[in-house]
Amino acid sequence: MSRNTFPGGIHPPECKHLTERLPIEPCPSPPFVVIPVVQHIGAPARPIVEKGAQVRLGEPVCESGGFVSVPCHASVSGTVEAVENRPHPSGTPVLSVVIANDGQNTPYADFSLEKDYLELDVKEIRRRIQAAGIVGLGGAAFPTHVKLSPPADKKIDTLILNGAECEPFLTADHRLMLEQTEKILRGMQIMMKVTGAATGIIGIESNKKDAAAALRKKAAELNLPYRIVTLPVKYPQGAEKQLIKALVDRRVPAGGLPMDIGCVVQNVGTAVAVYEAVAMNRPLTARVVTVTGSGVRQPKNLLVPLGTPFSFLLEQCGGLTEDAAKVIMGGPMMGIAQSSLEAPVIKGTSGVLVLTAKEAAPRRESTCISCAHCIDVCPMGLMPKVLGQLVRHERWETVKEYNVLDCIECGSCAFVCPAHINLVHLIKYGKFRVIQQQKKAS
Ligand code: SF4
Ligand code: SF4
Repeated sequence: MSRNTFPGGIHPPECKHLTERLPIEPCPSPPFVVIPVVQHIGAPARPIVEKGAQVRLGEPVCESGGFVSVPCHASVSGTVEAVENRPHPSGTPVLSVVIANDGQNTPYADFSLEKDYLELDVKEIRRRIQAAGIVGLGGAAFPTHVKLSPPADKKIDTLILNGAECEPFLTADHRLMLEQTEKILRGMQIMMKVTGAATGIIGIESNKKDAAAALRKKAAELNLPYRIVTLPVKYPQGAEKQLIKALVDRRVPAGGLPMDIGCVVQNVGTAVAVYEAVAMNRPLTARVVTVTGSGVRQPKNLLVPLGTPFSFLLEQCGGLTEDAAKVIMGGPMMGIAQSSLEAPVIKGTSGVLVLTAKEAAPRRESTCISCAHCIDVCPMGLMPKVLGQLVRHERWETVKEYNVLDCIECGSCAFVCPAHINLVHLIKYGKFRVIQQQKKAS
């Protein structure tokens, strides 16, 4: 296995042409926003405002629910209309703060640049990152300050920025790398200080050569000695473990974390948010979202206030086509199908993809023909065919022995299966049951 790649993987159609050349536009502010307490991995946030409260843009409306948690902020100024369960992209209603927008965008604080932000001590930098509600913006939504707080016995030597954006259709990170180049590098500089990493690498798939060139040019101008590496286009190149393997040829042990092998991985969008949080005290109140697919009339890359309902967002893109049939939050490989367009954009919403009836038509499942394609492409070296069969027979102990918990839910196995077996669905269920058993046992 050579450097710059990883075992397994697939080459789905890229479909990025719809938006890759479209600059990021500000999305108009919606009449109201819905801020759910669950927008990250970890403990849900807790509302700290009540119906009738006046809030300003960037004001905290939920406090963090613990160390592995972050607060949420008002993404518009206005009046709290309700604190109640509302539709959520996960499919289950979630407690949310609903704010009627007064259209003024009155800021909560002064969010201008502090020139000496690099002099701040590491503890204060981490505090600012948590207080600003920053989570991984690649879609995983893991609280960033936690990733930047490795235990004392885990020495970090390499900080990796993920600019792979390997999910088909999505171009939000591509545009950010072209349009917010300096902020990405400044955010990386902050995170290198926090982790103590001596080496900084940005990994970008070779279908975004313009972004790699822009980052190299700006890094040279700023005298920041980071390596910008272009990688072959292969899905799931942007998955943390696969990116580490490709860039530094290290393997994260089963059940382990990147910090176990001296690495921290962050997304390029997260780097921008970190810069704004630390250098400008600016909380995370908006993110770039790619709205795309044949089912939407005018695909766009938009800077969207968090909490904007998908229905409003789609209206800003000309609305749905007549044959639109399925709306997905995220990309086609790992995204979540939406049952309500009243669900809001959350911190992990990298894209909204609309498929037509023809594209979304379910494929009829047939019997496994033991072709082993699913095994060949699994980037985690698992046996999806066997795992699927074990799940069907509810053999949870054996499912665990076959390392179901290592599955990164990339969908590569299901993509290549000629029998159209929904392997990811089966394996996700297997993971759920094994985790449930582990919780019971402890
Ligand atoms: S088993 Fe999991 S990690 Fe392997 S290809 Fe399937 S979804 Fe990806
Ligand atoms: S790809 Fe599908 S048909 Fe082939 S072995 Fe795997 S589960 Fe069976």
